[in-house]
Amino acid sequence: MADKFPIHLAPPVRPQADYISDIAQIMAVRARGPVPMALVHTYGCQQNVADGEKIKGQLGEMGFSFTDKEDEADLIIFNTCAVREHAEDRVFGNVGALKNVKQRNPSLIIALCGCMMEQEHVAERIRKSFPFVNLVFGTHVIHRLPELLFTTITDGHRVFERGDDSEDKQIVEGLPIHRDGDIKAWLTVMYGCDNFCSYCVVPYVRGRERSRTPEAILEEFKSLVKAGYKDITLLGQNVNSYGKSLDKPISFSELLKMLDAVDGDYRIRFMTSHPKDATHELIDTIANGRHISHHLHLPFQSGNDRVLKEMNRGYTREKYLALVDYAKQTIPDLSLTSDIIVGFPGETYEEFLDTIDLIQIVGFTSLYTFIYSPRVGTRAAKMPDPVSADEKSKWFTELCSTQEQIAAQRCAEMIGTTQRVLVEERNEKNGLLSGRTDGNIIVDFTGDEQLIGSFIKVKITAARNWILYGESIQ
Ligand code: SF4
Repeated sequence: MADKFPIHLAPPVRPQADYISDIAQIMAVRARGPVPMALVHTYGCQQNVADGEKIKGQLGEMGFSFTDKEDEADLIIFNTCAVREHAEDRVFGNVGALKNVKQRNPSLIIALCGCMMEQEHVAERIRKSFPFVNLVFGTHVIHRLPELLFTTITDGHRVFERGDDSEDKQIVEGLPIHRDGDIKAWLTVMYGCDNFCSYCVVPYVRGRERSRTPEAILEEFKSLVKAGYKDITLLGQNVNSYGKSLDKPISFSELLKMLDAVDGDYRIRFMTSHPKDATHELIDTIANGRHISHHLHLPFQSGNDRVLKEMNRGYTREKYLALVDYAKQTIPDLSLTSDIIVGFPGETYEEFLDTIDLIQIVGFTSLYTFIYSPRVGTRAAKMPDPVSADEKSKWFTELCSTQEQIAAQRCAEMIGTTQRVLVEERNEKNGLLSGRTDGNIIVDFTGDEQLIGSFIKVKITAARNWILYGESIQ
């Protein structure tokens, strides 16, 4: 398990609002341009993206504007992801490259946060090998960013802060949010995870499950609908166990119904659903909803029962397929997507073929596929792993090409249908408008830019691989 950071600041003696106004004054003088500029780069999952928007929200209150150019920035924050080794390597590479930026601008403040920074071995590496990094903070103390930044600037010492044990159990409401778009929005409904899948680092870096109250979620949801957001995704590591730990427990299905009752022109998505906790009630709620997208992301990870057991997933292949069967019968146009790990320690090729078999049975519209990556502190990282990286890579290719055929077939079956599409942008490559169906499939079609941000009906006329093409019919 990941240890604590060795350094922990005393609890703040002043409200964060006081630090915000202090930083605003300090940065007004310290900034090289007319306003202080911040570059916030977020890696990884949507939960991290939502955290990044809260970081930017607080920086906005401190007077920062935002840039994506390193040489323009007075402050650079990398909000990191720990889910795979490759993602971590990329972060270390990008942090290393900041050394030159700091040489060009010695007053630049460099901060690192996110899941990677919750791991002691990572914090230690930053401490020893990246002396130009000024501030390192964990996922549980994002709300203390003003104080941490103030301490970094005024003390002149490097600050490493992860928070104390109480801070990974709390939920801080009311943080300002700087949303990156005006069509799609992320809404966190719960934090942390209690499942301890044997390969996953999330429970160690994001703490135990804790749910926001339905009242707080409903208030934020209504404000998003009122502001005109059209696609609202409810976020949690395992949304199906939402509400269990609340003083007045409610199920995720009940929360969905409560939100779906809000009038407006929008759709609701949610992720991630753990198959162990997904219920018929959830499927029925999607089927009967007014705004709930007919899309279910239901990660099965492996199609083999022995591997699932070693992963500590808590369901069998049979149980997963039975749930999918019920979902398909109840919602005939349901789009199913999933996550898969290839080459879990000890997995054989025959066991891997059970995964291939399962994707053929289900017919997913898309898959997020990964080669197993050992994470320090997890149980799987200590398991014997005799299959070579080359061999795993071949399996991975086999999986991807099978899925490509399945996705192409699923898309081809949609030719001639009419889909409700949320228009998101103009596709720079082909000049067509681009949007997504209810099932989250990309559709390109001709149309006027003014349609961006609205729902329209599109008749599907062609499909190429996993992209649909069509004509607007309104
Ligand atoms: S459900 Fe499993 S894979 Fe998902 S975050 Fe929790 S421990 Fe990780």
